[in-house]
Amino acid sequence: MTDAQRPNEVTRESELYIDGVWSPGGGFDLEVENPSTEEVIGVITQASAEDVERAVAAAKAAFPGWSTMSVPERTAVLRRARDVLAERADMFADIINREQGSPLKLARALHVDTPLAVMDATIEALQSYPFTAELGNSLIRREPAGVVAAITPWNLPLHQVIVKVIPALAAGATVVLKPAGLTPLAAFELARVFDAAGLPAGVFNLVPGSGRVVGDLLTRHPDVDQVSFTGSTPVGRTIAGVAAATLKRVTLELGGKSASVVLADTDDELLAKAVKITVGNCFLNGGQTCTALSRLIVPADRIEQTEQLAAAAAAKYQLGTRLGPLISADQRKEVESFLEAGAGGADAVTVTTVQPLPERGHWVTPTVVSRVDPDSRLAQEEVFGPVLSIIAAADDDEAIAIANNSIYGLGGAVWGSDEQAALDAAARIRTGQVDVNGGAFNPAAPFGGYKQSGTGREFGTYGIDDVCEIKAVQR
Ligand code: NAP
Ligand code: MG
Repeated sequence: MTDAQRPNEVTRESELYIDGVWSPGGGFDLEVENPSTEEVIGVITQASAEDVERAVAAAKAAFPGWSTMSVPERTAVLRRARDVLAERADMFADIINREQGSPLKLARALHVDTPLAVMDATIEALQSYPFTAELGNSLIRREPAGVVAAITPWNLPLHQVIVKVIPALAAGATVVLKPAGLTPLAAFELARVFDAAGLPAGVFNLVPGSGRVVGDLLTRHPDVDQVSFTGSTPVGRTIAGVAAATLKRVTLELGGKSASVVLADTDDELLAKAVKITVGNCFLNGGQTCTALSRLIVPADRIEQTEQLAAAAAAKYQLGTRLGPLISADQRKEVESFLEAGAGGADAVTVTTVQPLPERGHWVTPTVVSRVDPDSRLAQEEVFGPVLSIIAAADDDEAIAIANNSIYGLGGAVWGSDEQAALDAAARIRTGQVDVNGGAFNPAAPFGGYKQSGTGREFGTYGIDDVCEIKAVQR
């Protein structure tokens, strides 16, 4: 537990960043906990209803200036913000290690370097973004939506903010951010980055607070033009309902139950790679990613081979170095409920060994359960913890049917020795992203969900599209 043994520091944030200045927040104080140690590491003053009003008014007032700035001018500010963030990368990794629990190395690589890559891809997309186009006698204008409220989850405290805020700012929209109550510290530092980069007053505003109060106020607010939400499917449903009163634009990035499908023609070498990458993807960030490949679907006659490979791969995920704790005591209880007998169906067997757990912190052993019933709770519900289900399929058609047997449609993977057949299988999977034979993450490619995984797309050009209205001017 080397990371957790460092001396504890308590960060005090009593001022909110609204209209380009730091001013005292009017809400109550909330403690932030280190999930690795259960120590209090922060005390954050929440935004009051009046602070939310001030923030929305500031964003609305800043919109005419920011939205009409030239692309080179907006680009210059975003590039400065990117450079300041890059200079402070180790500080962000340290904060995320403490507030979210990721081991330091992962905190840097996943939680800081990935959003930096997304920033780069967005800034690049902005350079050639078609804000105007000709269509017959029409001029087609893409115009920023206005005031965007961003509501973000705790699993990736910086990344989930960057993927919303940077495309919105690139488009010329202004932003009010409500970060997750469990992980607000990185958002405060991001406000300092924007301030140092010279972002004009009111273009970005920070209102920490609970979803039920601050998130709800933003979702109802008549001067908020768009809500961009990442989080759970139940809260996404609530937000869509509340936003309907003002018919504001809604982007929802929700849960997933993504499948990694091994086709029958997969050779032994590729199977070994498929299992290793699926285990790593499922356990990434302690299993707390929305795209986690949490179901591994393999030909029935390869199940024993897969179990051995998966158990060996999982044994490398040592707690504290490669795997952090879960975010909270509640989340731990929830994840443990999926490890109870029966959750995976009558034939389910656990193929991994239990690791010793530290006394403090919200740790669970990374677990692989095999021979899981595809209709069981374990195969159907999002675990949001390091638990992989292996499911047997009679043939490729059944494997794809099992992959699609989900209310979710976010990510997925296909493995097969015949690449064209694997690409054909990818086309039959009803999700927003599919990786074939280990295809790498692309920060410019559209990201978002089919079915109950959400609406809208983030990243690159598609992320800018998502915060733009489209106007046709005839002449
Ligand atoms: P959550 O409970 O849905 O919360 C997400 C955010 O919404 C938090 O900031 C939360 O505030 C706020 N919120 C809660 N209730 C609200 C309401 N009634 N109105 C407005 N805002 C409200 O999700 P979580 O527990 O933080 O994150 C885990 C879930 O997020 C998982 O299901 C995961 O799959 C999903 N997720 C999806 C993606 C994706 O891109 N598709 C990415 C990451 C996570 P407070 O919690 O601070 O009160
Ligand atoms: Mg929650």
